[in-house]
Amino acid sequence: MAKVLCVLYDDPVNGYPATYARDDLPALDGYPGGQTLPTPEAIDFTPGHLLGSVSGELGLRRFLEERGHTLVVTSDKDTGNSAFDRELTDADVVISQPFWPAYLTAERLAKAPNLKLAITAGIGSDHVDLDAAIRHGVTVAEVTYCNSISVAEHVVMMTLSLVRNYLPSNRWVLDGGWNIADCVSRSYDVEGMHVGTVAAGRIGLAVLRRLKPFDMHLHYTDRHRLSREVEEELGLTWHPSTEDMVPHCDVVTVNAPLHPETENLFDDKLIASMKRGAYLINTARARIVDRDAVVRALESGRLAGYAGDVWYPQPAPADHPWRSMPNHGMTPHISGSSLSAQARYAAGTREILESWLAGTPIRDEYLIVQGGGLAGTGAHSYSTRS
Ligand code: NDP
Repeated sequence: MAKVLCVLYDDPVNGYPATYARDDLPALDGYPGGQTLPTPEAIDFTPGHLLGSVSGELGLRRFLEERGHTLVVTSDKDTGNSAFDRELTDADVVISQPFWPAYLTAERLAKAPNLKLAITAGIGSDHVDLDAAIRHGVTVAEVTYCNSISVAEHVVMMTLSLVRNYLPSNRWVLDGGWNIADCVSRSYDVEGMHVGTVAAGRIGLAVLRRLKPFDMHLHYTDRHRLSREVEEELGLTWHPSTEDMVPHCDVVTVNAPLHPETENLFDDKLIASMKRGAYLINTARARIVDRDAVVRALESGRLAGYAGDVWYPQPAPADHPWRSMPNHGMTPHISGSSLSAQARYAAGTREILESWLAGTPIRDEYLIVQGGGLAGTGAHSYSTRS
């Protein structure tokens, strides 16, 4: 019987919700491009309910306990002697969400001799030391596509919020003001602006598709070029590298995974090559940008705004400089954890567990590491240090 250790974010401060703002979720037929939605044998939760917090348990308890397995759920992951550290020593499976990542470092993996499977309930498995997972023979899987559109919607929201100066204008209303000149003196239209995405995978391409109707000029860079049909359909300009692309852009959005090729990509030098007054939006991973270079660029005016939802570490400490830097639109890491996304990644997590417990193959598109190397989606989109 397996011990499944699940690390989730805390319940709301006023307790687990008894009611919700809406009664249902729209039914989707599938993902863009034809990938099917998660296909577990069954689910034991109500789609639209809060599943990603401790009391939501990703809807897994009944499924696991009825089959004789053990489920341990905790949010306590960061202190030296956290519940996560204590429970990890005999866990077979770890489940963690990028929003509240249980960092599976090489040190922690060395203390988890039974660990065979690390599931990311979401997308982005950089909180797992993939090289160490490969060495320890741990399979790493994530629920590919579950929240890609959720994040793309967030990127569009942040693009419009920054360029149109939405958040400070809302602040004037909350404060009882009617300060139109204060609001509009940093407000522009996106129409005619040039927007570029670093990576045009599931999220990056969805961002481009959603910004096309705003009559923006669309740019991208990626390790693999999109098909000519897609480039022509959207009128895309491809650039061979991020360095080549960013000087042309008014808005840059980062949609690549964090791995050795992308770590610290946006440093002082790259940001200095961007147009003065450009906006940078990063919902991918915080360590793709140099934390302090972003602060310097906002303070100098090189960047007119920065927004995103990814921080390092997570949760961000109270004195993290991104909380107080000028002209930012940061949120906690929420873009991929809407109630809509939670229903999909809870179902996908169960699908992965069903496959693993039955000894049947995990869907190739969910795999990041298996059999001692990068596999599936991981082999396509990630790199290792070795
Ligand atoms: P995909 O795997 O669909 O796309 C990633 C793309 O990045 C691929 O097209 C890949 O290229 C490209 N890429 C990888 N390395 C580079 C590089 N060095 N330069 C340029 N392009 C590169 O993933 P998603 O679009 O679904 O997600 C992307 C990332 O977004 C995730 O890895 C995760 O970190 C983050 N994310 C954030 C969420 C949030 O809540 N904020 C939620 C979900 C994801 P190719 O495959 O062509 O080699």
